Amino acid sequence: MNPCNCSFLGDTANPERCRCTPAQIQRYRSKLSGPLLDRIDMHIEVPRVPQGILTAPSPEDEPTSNQIRQRVEEAQNLQKCRQRCLNSKLSPKQVDEFCTLGSESQNLINSAMLKLGISARGYHRILKLAQSIADLDKSDQIQQLHLAQAIQFRNLDR
Ligand SMILES: [Zn+2]
Repeated sequence: MNPCNCSFLGDTANPERCRCTPAQIQRYRSKLSGPLLDRIDMHIEVPRVPQGILTAPSPEDEPTSNQIRQRVEEAQNLQKCRQRCLNSKLSPKQVDEFCTLGSESQNLINSAMLKLGISARGYHRILKLAQSIADLDKSDQIQQLHLAQAIQFRNLDR
């Protein structure tokens, strides 16, 4: 979706161009209902792509598509070994069983739920996402950093 009616909100190349009021922005975003948003795992802000960047050669230190695919496949194999399915397919009951949190992480998600008004469905989505981030990191357990990243991907809940 666009960030607002005119689509220029937050555009660093055209900072003056959006004249939408906070009320208009709120109305525009409320077209996406809470129950629908709850069913979307990740909310990510994507800035405008500067001209020419898509045709420019990638920097040397950037991982290649093959390297990224390999990381994803390794994370998926971890998931299949642990629970015989991918994290995205876990039922709420399985999330509680497999995506366990330490007490500090539990406090973090509890306060995020209160502050952001996250639903039970949103809670399980965040845990699955945090587990996927932990798997990509080859971590045995969800660490606070993984959880914090997963919570950041719910920015439309705010
Ligand atoms: Zn606007």
